[in-house]
Amino acid sequence: MSILLTNGTYIHPETLEFTTFHILVKEGVNGEISFLKEIPHDNNYQIIDCTGKYITQSFVCGHHHVYSALSRGMGAPKKNPENFNEILEYVWWTLDKCLDAKMIEASALYTAMACIKNGVTFVIDHHASPNAIKGSLEIIANAFEKVGASHLLCYEITDRDGIDKAEQGLIETAEYLGNHQGLVGLHASFTVSDDTLKKAVDLAKQSGSGIHIHVAEAESDQDHCASTYGMRVIERLQKFGALESSKTILGHCLHLSENEKKIIRNCPAWVVQNTESNLNNKVGYFNAQDLGDNIMMGTDGMHSDMIRSAQAAFFVGQNFDTIGYDSVYQRFRNADKYLQKNGFSGHCPNNLVVLDYDTPTPFNNGNFYGHFVFGLESQQVQHVISNGRLIVENRKILAIDEEKILADARIQAERLWVEMRK
Ligand SMILES: [Zn+2]
Repeated sequence: MSILLTNGTYIHPETLEFTTFHILVKEGVNGEISFLKEIPHDNNYQIIDCTGKYITQSFVCGHHHVYSALSRGMGAPKKNPENFNEILEYVWWTLDKCLDAKMIEASALYTAMACIKNGVTFVIDHHASPNAIKGSLEIIANAFEKVGASHLLCYEITDRDGIDKAEQGLIETAEYLGNHQGLVGLHASFTVSDDTLKKAVDLAKQSGSGIHIHVAEAESDQDHCASTYGMRVIERLQKFGALESSKTILGHCLHLSENEKKIIRNCPAWVVQNTESNLNNKVGYFNAQDLGDNIMMGTDGMHSDMIRSAQAAFFVGQNFDTIGYDSVYQRFRNADKYLQKNGFSGHCPNNLVVLDYDTPTPFNNGNFYGHFVFGLESQQVQHVISNGRLIVENRKILAIDEEKILADARIQAERLWVEMRK
């Protein structure tokens, strides 16, 4: 059934034009919306009164990690990490090795739930569960679809746990890409051998997909590449053909030479920045200078709130980046372009948020950016429409029992934490 949003103010996601019309939202993947001056007489639709509300296209997370969902509040690692590689070893690689199918499902259900309540209806995820690789992407896809979120998933292929696990990652990816849209995930240059990198790029080319990899998140990724391969990370990815697809996503990109920046701005791949994660890991600050226009934003598994990510990028960027009022919004919205240009489905105009936003100052096309940076918050997301279906109504998710998902997640979190202490 179609949805009719009446009397709301629509903010066009690109032109930022404000229009007050009734909006007819067609149900279905890749559906459209139409603007009506009069409420049609037939009643083949569900009416939602949006008087005084703002409506705009829903949001996309350009880089997420379902696997981190059950980490909040967990105990200290066995060793206090002293650098980024130790953070991976003692925190994330300890956690992801303990994930089983039930924990992955609970992580994915919670992540999808958190995303849609924040108005994020499309998630680009990068998953790792080295002892539960087979079928992990299907579990995540099913959980996302159950809640109502669209997705572009990949499995993190890596040699960090040996060649056999790298092979399993490639097999899981190939099987998943056989009947889903997705990417070929790689952890990072420093844990991917030449042989595995070649196989991953070949798989991406064969399946018409792209690579999704962490790049120069810490200086140590560059040090390893220089000492092992005699070149820098981006040069290595270019050598293997990993940068030729506009579907390819390069996470972080903090420590780059001038030549690497030049390669990036002249290739069709996309960069995704993750400000709060970089702050948390103390690895440096993102700077878009000389990187070109293909920059989008993610959360890196820190949380599922893209408005918060954009605002953090703006504030940190006042000191360390070229970011401004218009460019923070552009980067926030660039994931829309990434999905559209590459023909991925699930993020057409019939994906919408209805914002319950009160402001003590005028709000219009001319001062949108100021409200975006200083006024908008995800808690203002009142209703969410995904592929033309109402999935959040008055901040409640319709398809699932939120309390039950949270209660089960807490059980799975305790199981996970017990495993991590062994
Ligand atoms: Zn990441």
